Amino acid sequence: MRIYNEYGRRDNMYKARIKILVQALGREAFLEKVNAEFAAMDRSRYRLPAEVVDAIRARFGAPAFETLADGSEALAAQCRADREFAVWVGTNTHPHKQPGYCSLTVSCKPAGGIPGDATAEQMDLLADLADQYSFGELRITHMQNVVLGHVRQDRLFDIWQVLQANGLGTANVGLLTDIIACPGLDYCSLANARSIPIAQKLSARFADNTLQQEIGQLRLNISGCINACGHHHAGNIGILGVDKRGEEAFQITLGGSTGDDASVGQILGSAMSEDETVDAIARIIDTYLVRRNPGERFIETCRRLGAAPFKDAAYATV
Ligand code: SF4
Repeated sequence: MRIYNEYGRRDNMYKARIKILVQALGREAFLEKVNAEFAAMDRSRYRLPAEVVDAIRARFGAPAFETLADGSEALAAQCRADREFAVWVGTNTHPHKQPGYCSLTVSCKPAGGIPGDATAEQMDLLADLADQYSFGELRITHMQNVVLGHVRQDRLFDIWQVLQANGLGTANVGLLTDIIACPGLDYCSLANARSIPIAQKLSARFADNTLQQEIGQLRLNISGCINACGHHHAGNIGILGVDKRGEEAFQITLGGSTGDDASVGQILGSAMSEDETVDAIARIIDTYLVRRNPGERFIETCRRLGAAPFKDAAYATV
């Protein structure tokens, strides 16, 4: 913060970001200044008393888990009996270190809906579900979904039914329609283009869950301007809203990833209209489905083939 205050561009709202400063100074010079600042600090002043540390630690203790047997077999039987439930368990639940428990992600991305939106009634419901099933704990994720962190496996079916009945049961976590979108021009004064309508069109276009399962893991992120609040550059497919001679338009980026093998997406080509972009992405997906090797995720196919075949597909009819 001190280095930023001294050298950063607080005088210019468009340049008031630490990434701008890192680029201006260079990575090494920036690191040198930060490290020198750390070295000059008297850090003993910031050491917390042991009782304060203990009090903080106590707030992060594990919930009062029940001693349960592993519920995987019973859950598998429920999944065999209800295919829709099985699909949801496959995409939206995650292992837990405590036997008999799991965590689950509630998707706030219904088909054709606004990514990350929830009504007041849905938020009340999620709070009640957290109280009833997850030790009063829920978390909002940067993927714009909600996680119930500690749920008994033998309660999953009940919870799923409640979620289904209230528009929160979409089985798409980690799939194509689990889109991150910033508020864009609908709500943000810095935007070049609207992020939400194009997200809704893509969500409706790929609503078929069987198709999404077939496509597999794919992250699609949308930002309404270069400030990148929707992390478009980190999406396997990214969409960036730009201003093209006074009209809203969209650039597609390809190859971004936030995994251990993180990478920044590269711009495919010139910007297109909203509908052209949706069609281009459909052709990019088709190219992946035709060209992928068995078991290969979208990002892996992109890396193996490079951008060329996807670019050809994207601009095939534009
Ligand atoms: S990326 Fe741009 S349009 Fe989207 S919320 Fe951030 S500043 Fe606003």
